[in-house]
Amino acid sequence: MRQAGAIAELIEALRCLPGVGPKTAQRMTLHLLQRDRDAAGRLSEALRQALEKVGLCAQCRTLTEHSLCEYCASPGRDRSLLCIVESPAEVLAISRSTGYKGLFFVLNGRLSPLDGIGPEELGLDVLEQRLKDDGVAELILATNTTVEGEATAHYLSDMARRHGIRTTRIAHGIPFGGELEYVDGATLSHAFDGRKDF
Ligand SMILES: [Zn+2]
Repeated sequence: MRQAGAIAELIEALRCLPGVGPKTAQRMTLHLLQRDRDAAGRLSEALRQALEKVGLCAQCRTLTEHSLCEYCASPGRDRSLLCIVESPAEVLAISRSTGYKGLFFVLNGRLSPLDGIGPEELGLDVLEQRLKDDGVAELILATNTTVEGEATAHYLSDMARRHGIRTTRIAHGIPFGGELEYVDGATLSHAFDGRKDF
């Protein structure tokens, strides 16, 4: 079936979601328009509200509705520990699976010069300021074990060294190229507890 106008526009828009190809996007579109228009309205409103309210935490760059996220705003967290992750999903995974009580910093990506992603795009100027001022004693690298994740880890450990801060890397049982977000809780917890100097 060939679509045009608003239908085609919606199909194309849904393809921005991970794992959604043209056929799935078409199925979703027809479902929303034909069978569940109430849900379509809720989806549209929820998306509008979320886009309006949710931004990045000023300190750690995770997603939040406030200027500081719940971790950064909490007085009970150990401010000498700073765990670096690539995405907000990994903040949730680590919080859920490990007993970690320190703070986070979210890169929202990884260094990839060929794609135009350098230190500035990852907020590393903000991070460096924190390493300078904030009493961080250990930088825990939880970047993924992809090539870019490794390059990012090396860049960060050099930065930490310049400020005399110990760097550790979580390791055990995380497969090479593995995305932390998809690792099961027990493996992640083990990897976290078994972190080694980097
Ligand atoms: Zn935060």
